[in-house]
Amino acid sequence: MLPAPIILVGKTLGELENLLLTWGEPRYRGEQIAHWLYGQIVDDVGSMSNIPGILRTRLAEETVLHPARVETVRHSVDGTRKYLLSLGDEALIETVYIPEISRTTVCISTQVGCGMGCTFCATGLGGLTRNLTSGEIVDQILQVALDVGALPSNVVFMGMGEPLANYEQLLKAIAIINAPWGLDIGIRHLTISTCGVVPGIRRLGKEGLGLTLAVSLHAADDEKRSQIMPINNIYSIGELMGSLQGYVKDTSRRVTIEYALMADFNDSMADARNLVGLLEGLLCHVNLIPINPVQGGPHTKPRDSQVEKFLGALKRSGLAVSIRKERGQDIAAACGQLRGQWEAE
Ligand code: SF4
Repeated sequence: MLPAPIILVGKTLGELENLLLTWGEPRYRGEQIAHWLYGQIVDDVGSMSNIPGILRTRLAEETVLHPARVETVRHSVDGTRKYLLSLGDEALIETVYIPEISRTTVCISTQVGCGMGCTFCATGLGGLTRNLTSGEIVDQILQVALDVGALPSNVVFMGMGEPLANYEQLLKAIAIINAPWGLDIGIRHLTISTCGVVPGIRRLGKEGLGLTLAVSLHAADDEKRSQIMPINNIYSIGELMGSLQGYVKDTSRRVTIEYALMADFNDSMADARNLVGLLEGLLCHVNLIPINPVQGGPHTKPRDSQVEKFLGALKRSGLAVSIRKERGQDIAAACGQLRGQWEAE
């Protein structure tokens, strides 16, 4: 049996250099290949024009550049594109491209499925299949860049999966995305979104990276939050708040609090008062997100007037708050929805 091909995207500069050294090539070939993979974003070895023909032949025979391929792309009227990517084992993941006037953002997945079981999330309903490798994480950005013709200015780890439950591969992917020899996207342009994995938040704060951290809170008391987010049975709101204070102290970065508004569940004025009380003293920005309902799920979208009342209450308390614009509603852009539709077809 032939050995499995070596997948190049997802390797650090050091790993590429070591591979080339074991092949009897000079070390600098590793940097040249990193440049073609992550800087020029080529999708075939033949385009690597400064690599000698014999080495290109060996690369073509023994390696694969990209671990993901695009199965389908949906285009929204607002410019958002949603990609369904398949991996070497035919697992499916979703990636979203969001163009705005001042920036472009790619929202990427870190796991196939998710084991966190949030009741409002299409991905959570299907459970966890496996973690993504660093290459599969990074390649989502490269596949979008191949399609739209440029790397994004921003990356959010907000797609399928809980990033902090795949910590090692996440950190390796971030190193490649951020490195000058890699995608060279500034660390302050990267956002990790977590459902509240407290040890991961504490560990991330100590890394000294200064990434933006977004936390899905969605309810300001333990009873309500536990109903929609099982993680709350492991790490209570009190423990979560303590870890966020620690993150702010370690990184001097403001954290983002995500609060999905669900009709008649967490959108009352009493809920708003609870949230204000909870966030007192925390350096944060609150994103209110009128929920994008999951088909068959228990939650519905709040009335516009209720969203405005909730927003007003937070603003009057002095909190920095905004409403997240919904993008790509016509193409099932909410996490997990496209994969669900594809598999049902
Ligand atoms: S919201 Fe995020 S953490 Fe929760 S189930 Fe969905 S993907 Fe997982």
